[in-house]
Amino acid sequence: MNKMIKILVIEDEKHIRTFITSVLTTQQYQVIPAVTGREGLSQAASQCPNLILLDLGLPDMDGMEIITQIRKWSSVPIIVISARIQEDDKVSALDAGADDYITKPFGNSELLARIRTALRHSNRLRGPLANRPYRSGGLIIDFEKHLVARDGQEIHLTQNEFKIVSLLAKNNGRVLLYDQLIEHIWGPYSENDNTILRVNMANIRRKLEPNPAEPIYIFTEIGVGYRMAEEDPT
Ligand code: CA
Repeated sequence: MNKMIKILVIEDEKHIRTFITSVLTTQQYQVIPAVTGREGLSQAASQCPNLILLDLGLPDMDGMEIITQIRKWSSVPIIVISARIQEDDKVSALDAGADDYITKPFGNSELLARIRTALRHSNRLRGPLANRPYRSGGLIIDFEKHLVARDGQEIHLTQNEFKIVSLLAKNNGRVLLYDQLIEHIWGPYSENDNTILRVNMANIRRKLEPNPAEPIYIFTEIGVGYRMAEEDPT
């Protein structure tokens, strides 16, 4: 079923390119390899891939520049592959228009989960399923009915708590930046202060998570933002 899906892999390190290609090929994705930034840009334009995996450290161009270039004409999902552990780099890549990132070294299941999520999200924006309830384990979020329940028990959230949880659930599997969440909930002119978001998140976790100290639904990406557990396959 993945046969029609083309994934452009822009990565100069041969062993990583080979690893990614073999993982994707077993899932029957079509792989278009590119070794340099220039080659990647030209393949992105000529092949119209469904998704791009982009290494930030390329010999000829900065990965950040490639994101900016592609975003001038395409909304194709871009997942950044980064060896950089700097949180600032992740935030800059997401700000420049990348959809998500994965940090080296990574395993095949993590890679495939990120790809699934990014593809599903890009389809969902257009599809009729945008308001379908979110389900993961015992947690259900019904966006239309404004209802949250865990293991059959309704959970009462404040309006802002519900907005935060809904936004994370609609983007499940993807990281959302602190600033994106703050702007969405409190508006573009709100102060760029994470404190109020953290207070809300602590309350959400207390209500939602079986054990708030070890979350299974909403994960913290330190210095970057939050990521909601990928929803169960239907
Ligand atoms: Ca590299």
